[in-house]
Amino acid sequence: MRFDTITIGGGLSGLVTGISLAKKGQKCLIVSSGQSALHFFSGSFELYGNEGNPLDAIAKLEDSHPYSKLGVEKIKTLATEVKTFFSEMNIPLVGSVEQNHYRVTPLGLLKPAWLTMEEYAKVDDPKHMPWKKVIVLNIEGFLDFHTSFVASGLAKQGVECSVAAISLPELERIRKNPTEMRATNIAKVLVNETLEHLAKEINAVAKDVEAILMPTVVGLLDKESVSILKQKVQKPLHFIATLPPSVPGIRTQIMLRKRFQELGGIYMLGDTVLKGEIVGDKLQSIQTNNHGDLKFEADHFVLATGSFFSHGIVASPNQVYEPILGLDVDFNGARSEWYDRDLFKPQPYMKFGVATDKNFRVKKEGKTLLNMYAVGAVLSGFNAIKEGCGAGVSILTSLNVAQEILK
Ligand SMILES: Cc1cc2nc3c(=O)[nH]c(=O)nc-3n(C[C@H](O)[C@H](O)[C@H](O)COP(=O)(O)OP(=O)(O)OC[C@H]3O[C@@H](n4cnc5c(N)ncnc54)[C@H](O)[C@@H]3O)c2cc1C
Repeated sequence: MRFDTITIGGGLSGLVTGISLAKKGQKCLIVSSGQSALHFFSGSFELYGNEGNPLDAIAKLEDSHPYSKLGVEKIKTLATEVKTFFSEMNIPLVGSVEQNHYRVTPLGLLKPAWLTMEEYAKVDDPKHMPWKKVIVLNIEGFLDFHTSFVASGLAKQGVECSVAAISLPELERIRKNPTEMRATNIAKVLVNETLEHLAKEINAVAKDVEAILMPTVVGLLDKESVSILKQKVQKPLHFIATLPPSVPGIRTQIMLRKRFQELGGIYMLGDTVLKGEIVGDKLQSIQTNNHGDLKFEADHFVLATGSFFSHGIVASPNQVYEPILGLDVDFNGARSEWYDRDLFKPQPYMKFGVATDKNFRVKKEGKTLLNMYAVGAVLSGFNAIKEGCGAGVSILTSLNVAQEILK
């Protein structure tokens, strides 16, 4: 089978690449083994986790950083397209490329963010909190969200917080087994007329407050339930991320995949790319676990297999390798140099990833493969956690590589 572009990995990066190419009429295939980091999504995309203008911090990064390969001007241009890209899938985002805002974490802390889903709690300036008095709600028996953490964190910012738990008869069946009380299972119940009951309970406890904060346990398959609940609740309602699984993350994954398929893309979920055939300086074809000897050929290939977390790169006792093609990986020295014993220091292994040229083309044994690119978390040169730049690198390198391929 032959395609214009085949993307290996169907998380945020793979889907942004695939959608961008399919929009321009390319015949695209995405092969994806399984869950992606979106299933753990906080509700905010991070560009760079500094206070103020992220572009200021990005301008000072080392040459090996994916952002330095893009350059500040390109980042600014690509970043301004992102809100429109997601709003076309009914994923409205708020925020600006030139000024970070803050999201409220499940611990009640404020963390810099670039784009946050519209329904989430968002703070522009911690010195001027948007609320003086709020109520933090939970669903009775839901253990993956702690109202007291959020309330004490916000209290430190001068916000008066009360807390309450809502119980609904509709949730009694899943409450019998505490392991069933997960955000995704609750969201499956909180639909249709149950939203009416939920709103009634919320309105009964949220009287003397400016706003209501609650965990993201609504809107698994689409945003409709979120909009309905917000309409029925009498005070402004804002959501805060829970422990995984992430309801808005799974919804984002579903919406991106739907958009890709509507554009004619083929998404093979639950299949794993095992190997590929390189001829000269080009990748000719790949083979997958489910399709045996069948070769999938393309003009271009994109590696979007994620980092250690998704097995895009793998560590053995003495080396870090890319498991499909044995591509060159940037990692330094002996195993003892891969990590710092001080857990809170930046960990060197977080920057390990596939080596690329300045156009994000991959290398094998030092030679660039002319028709294969890498995007997102599989790339080397950045620490998504310490720098707060995971989604920014994923989205912007994907948009950029799609443009390169279309050239
Ligand atoms: C737990 C976690 C939470 C995060 N939360 C946030 C957040 O809230 N905000 C933020 O800005 N950043 C966050 N990040 C950073 C994150 O890396 C990026 O935001 C982004 O989602 C990474 O996307 P990706 O598509 O590059 O990789 P991934 O999401 O890891 O996706 C890679 C995909 O490739 C597939 N795959 C791997 N190997 C193969 C193969 N051989 N064949 C076929 N498919 C394969 C995997 O199954 C997976 O679906 C988080 C990272 C992690 C690990």
